[in-house]
Amino acid sequence: MEIITSYHLAKKTIEKPATLINVNGNIIGGDELTLIAGPCALESEEQVFTIADFLSKKGVTIMRGGAYKPRTSPYSFQGMKKEGLKLLKKVSEKYGMQVITEVLDLSLLDTVYPYADILQIGARNMKNYHFLKELGKTDKPILLKRGMDATLEEWLLAAEYILLGGNEQVILCERGIRSFDNSTRNIMDIAAIPLVKQLSHLPVMADPSQATGKRDLVIPLSLAAVAAGCDGIMVEVHNNPEKALSDGPQSLNFEQFSELVEKLKVQSEVSNKKFLSKKIVSELIQQ
Ligand code: PEP
Ligand code: MN
Repeated sequence: MEIITSYHLAKKTIEKPATLINVNGNIIGGDELTLIAGPCALESEEQVFTIADFLSKKGVTIMRGGAYKPRTSPYSFQGMKKEGLKLLKKVSEKYGMQVITEVLDLSLLDTVYPYADILQIGARNMKNYHFLKELGKTDKPILLKRGMDATLEEWLLAAEYILLGGNEQVILCERGIRSFDNSTRNIMDIAAIPLVKQLSHLPVMADPSQATGKRDLVIPLSLAAVAAGCDGIMVEVHNNPEKALSDGPQSLNFEQFSELVEKLKVQSEVSNKKFLSKKIVSELIQQ
């Protein structure tokens, strides 16, 4: 009997070259470049709606926002919790946007599930195998961050846990790994993007905000990730980054976000990806 020692469900094969994940009309993993944007943490109704209004005018169709935050210090802002989830719901109803938010642990799965179109699993949870197994039983797309100390094989095996449970909608997200050099928050592993695309049929996104920790590096690293072949970018954006309650230094301000969108339009063409397709933008204008 053959012993399966590695990821065989996540593996790319001739029969299964690419998984496309449909998030209410946003197809992740195909020929479109996905852009997810929003604050690190949901902070107040005013903050959430100011950012959502801006992003929807820019054509963003999937908004991020943490309601339960995994903070390094227990004294840091831990998130708005259920109140944050309710705000996300209001935003998605008002602007027709899909929303992604983190599920911190298994005890919060039932709470977060009804509010999220994509469940975000953080880097710190990538090796929480019992949790991953339970996520395999859900029917919503899962964005699985790479653990900060995870090899590519460990990351793909983490995805395998979810796939094995029956949930085939896994999106991988490179968010930087730890190194000896603290000039950036993490090291964005650009090579991992084309390599994982070679090894696996799963969509691969990149999060240059957590990867660099510095807002001035988010545009160049986003472009690099798209050039390397990623299926989408997730970035943190804030209306007032200096006052942000979480990850302000790495959050783009509105001007920088506008610049990112313009540059992604050019880069996506070079990388053969459709970006903010006319259909999506015209639908938005009609609203
Ligand atoms: C985040 O996206 O805000 C976050 C906490 O990400 P990570 O799990 O990659 O650190
Ligand atoms: Mn963050």
